[in-house]
Amino acid sequence: MTTIANRPLDAVAPFKNEQVKSFSDSAEIAAMKAALAAVKADFGKEYPLVIGGRKVETTKKIRSLNPANPEDVVGLVSSASKDQANEAIEAAARAFESWKQVPMAERAACIFKAAQLLRERRFEYDALLVYEVGKSWVEADGDIAEAIDFLEFYAREALRYAQPQPVVPLEGEANELIYIPLGVGAVIPPWNFAGAIMMGMTSAAIVSGNTVVVKPSSDSAVIAAWFVDLLGEAGIPPGVVNFIPGSGSEIGDLIVANPKIRFISFTGSKEVGLRINALAAETKPGQKWIKRVVAEMGGKDSIIVAADADVNAAVEGVAVSAFGYQGQKCSACSRAIVDAKVYDEFVDKLKRRVSGITVGDPSDPANYMGPVVNEGALKSIEGYIAKGMAEGRLVSGGKRLGEQGYFLEPTVIADVAPDATIAQQEIFGPVLAVIKARDFDDAMAIANNTEFGLTGSLYTSDEEKIARARDEFFVGNLYFNRKSTGAMVGVHPFGGFNMSGTDSKAGGRDYLLLFMQAKTISRKV
Ligand code: NAP
Repeated sequence: MTTIANRPLDAVAPFKNEQVKSFSDSAEIAAMKAALAAVKADFGKEYPLVIGGRKVETTKKIRSLNPANPEDVVGLVSSASKDQANEAIEAAARAFESWKQVPMAERAACIFKAAQLLRERRFEYDALLVYEVGKSWVEADGDIAEAIDFLEFYAREALRYAQPQPVVPLEGEANELIYIPLGVGAVIPPWNFAGAIMMGMTSAAIVSGNTVVVKPSSDSAVIAAWFVDLLGEAGIPPGVVNFIPGSGSEIGDLIVANPKIRFISFTGSKEVGLRINALAAETKPGQKWIKRVVAEMGGKDSIIVAADADVNAAVEGVAVSAFGYQGQKCSACSRAIVDAKVYDEFVDKLKRRVSGITVGDPSDPANYMGPVVNEGALKSIEGYIAKGMAEGRLVSGGKRLGEQGYFLEPTVIADVAPDATIAQQEIFGPVLAVIKARDFDDAMAIANNTEFGLTGSLYTSDEEKIARARDEFFVGNLYFNRKSTGAMVGVHPFGGFNMSGTDSKAGGRDYLLLFMQAKTISRKV
């Protein structure tokens, strides 16, 4: 009999992306308002560590604040000491011995269940993202829709990898290749897709049969606490997912260096990713493997606007890519590279488009842009704006709004040189540099002149330029005549080149392989 726990891949409906809610429907609006009220009523709640299924309260807490109003404490999350982090790794190592034996289909069934639970609680999770990381309603729902997609997609992928794998037949031998898990992993996600990336990284690792310690971003530890709880409800046994929030600079090195850690799945900045990569390469006494590092890092993403582009469409694509979620997406457009022939028209139209962007508390759906994530980000972005005003011509924005939350105007700086600081360094905020290119050759060269290689987009009506960009635009995710953000699971497998990371292609068919190793078994017959 086929049960949910042993169903093969062909018994599961094909993967389909969740639709992101537009909140144009009155029932959806009412549900979201109710969820915002419910989440607000829980402000200040405490969340423990989870080690081997045991909930552990610590005296030291991470205060997760609402960036729109930092007086709101969204939650107080226990912060793991070094000893507790090591204890969690030991618990994961013990749980691995049994979890690795659980058939793939049973592991996948837990992840399908988790997707279902998340769907049922979608509005609450959306509301939490509004408060914890300053997302607008639509951005928050996009994040949770993507999280559901990751769970649904990776559970199906696990079933696919559990099927017999093709090997060339040889007379006299029965040969097979099977995928087995790696061991204990450290999952270290960022705050910017606090739902999708954290859940995607965690679920991919555990559905493949690994056990993990999850160290969430200190800016989004509450949603991670919710998810670890939800996984327990979905049937994930104690010890498979251990929850150890804590400052990356305090416990990060220790987790990465622990000899029982077999792999590190990291998404975040280039600086932290490189540090993890270097540390993971040092072999510690008692370590029996080369640690595997999956590191998805920053971007400095360009949209090229060619002389033959539909300028109105390009303005729209650039505005949405640069200022959606305050520019805090690794795929955000932070450089518009515009052919001199349409440059003035583009800058004029962009200025008008950006002047219509509303900024304010994202719990009010009238606001398109909310706050940046924390005070440190605000100060750093303000520093880049000051630098940019010296490096180019301020076209719009440039200022902080209000004194309470971390709000910044959408900022456009034109006439920026291709090698200027704001054209080269990842700002991770609502700041766009506009660069004039002499022609398409020049635009292509400028687009490839950073150390990153994550996303890129070209607006053109010329097939030849499209063909050239296919070959020459060196990014992991290339788009034509559309925005550079909004990659969909399964549709646009996501990951970058060069200093943007290991090109793991999250949401693609290769991703799960990063959490497994293959064993070939040959028998004389
Ligand atoms: P981050 O500062 O690098 O932090 C990422 C994670 O690393 C957090 O959990 C952080 O914990 C932890 N961490 C910090 N220092 C550590 C250390 N020494 N050892 C181990 N872990 C450490 O990045 P972020 O500000 O959260 O995220 C924004 C960055 O992520 C941007 O650069 C963005 O481009 C990138 N990103 C890339 C992708 C992609 O797919 N390529 C996707 C999303 C985001 P704490 O919070 O406690 O410091």
